[in-house]
Amino acid sequence: MEDPEQIRNIAIAAHVDHGKTTLTDNLLAGAGMIADEGEATRLMMDTEEDEQERGITIDAANVSMTHEYEEDNHLINLIDTPGHVDFGGDVTRAMRAVDGALVVVDAVEGAMPQTETVVRQALREGVKPALFINKVDRLISELQEGPQEMQQRLMDVIGDVNELIRGMTENRDDIDDWTVSVEDGTVAFGSALYKWGVSAPSMQRTGIGFPEIIEMERNDKRMELHEQTPLSDVVLDMVAEHFPNPLAAQPRRIPRVWRGEADSDLARQMEGVDDDGEVVFMVTDISMDPHAGEIATGRLFSGTIKQGQELYVSGTVGKNRVQSVGIFMGGEREELDRGVPAGNIAAVTGLRDAIAGSTVSSVEMTPFESIEHISEPVITKS
Ligand code: GDP
Repeated sequence: MEDPEQIRNIAIAAHVDHGKTTLTDNLLAGAGMIADEGEATRLMMDTEEDEQERGITIDAANVSMTHEYEEDNHLINLIDTPGHVDFGGDVTRAMRAVDGALVVVDAVEGAMPQTETVVRQALREGVKPALFINKVDRLISELQEGPQEMQQRLMDVIGDVNELIRGMTENRDDIDDWTVSVEDGTVAFGSALYKWGVSAPSMQRTGIGFPEIIEMERNDKRMELHEQTPLSDVVLDMVAEHFPNPLAAQPRRIPRVWRGEADSDLARQMEGVDDDGEVVFMVTDISMDPHAGEIATGRLFSGTIKQGQELYVSGTVGKNRVQSVGIFMGGEREELDRGVPAGNIAAVTGLRDAIAGSTVSSVEMTPFESIEHISEPVITKS
């Protein structure tokens, strides 16, 4: 949390039913954040009954986990993007808080309309994509595909996703950087249900490739496959290796998502992830805690948020006083007396005027641009 180089702020984005929830469970369990893999489902799912009971909207959940990669411990902050098409605006807001988007695509269905929407939202916000092709077990066990057929199908999915990325990338220089490929390690394959995964780097490390997977999947040795090449390791390694940390991301993203004076101290502080700078915090989500009350969660682009600070909230007069600040560990909020520095996803109480989308800051400033809602055709599930 103290070292921006070790932070990754990410979202998992997928067409409905492609496996976002199951994958999230895997990651949290793999990172040791939950004992029981059903627990994440409870944490992350949009709990509609719960919302109705409490009369509030839980529109984006936040969980964090730590993952050791190349001997460094990484803090991975995961913001949930609502899976439903009606939540377009909330998806955009979640994207603003992150630097990387793990796009999940069902190997059988391939890229679907909402895949296109989430890729577009990610790229608009300057968020780097990586691809996880899920439900590969179904190609083997249900569709009984052979190695060549399978490879062709997987390559087609990658090709389709890259076509989306190419078609949407405004800055031509971003294209080489942001299309995904197996060789680069920005594509992983696997089964969130059976908890195994592979990528080019993992194949090198474990010696388990597609021939072994086909053999083990066909012979019902899924547990063994999970033990030898666990999905959470493959995906979290990819996150640590290929998604930019805040120091790398903010200089590129701030000019894209903030319309204030480009040549100002404030811009420099945000681009530099300056923890001694002014506080600039963009709220992505307000949730309700039975004990702490309203919690504003969002991305801290600059400064350090501390208890007792008096902060401006965009669009309102006067200041709000920070009652507590913390980060999420698993799905639990942990308050931190020493405050939370720039680059993190912070959870703040006391910001009574803040709503999702507010800019909260220690100086009056141009707020982050109004959040655009992207509409898309209604999707009928087959
Ligand atoms: P979400 O809507 O994207 O969150 O999707 P879920 O994680 O809820 O998964 C949708 C359905 O697909 C559930 O019935 C899962 O059990 C199933 N599923 C998820 N991942 C896999 C997988 O890798 N293989 C298979 N066969 N089914 C999966």
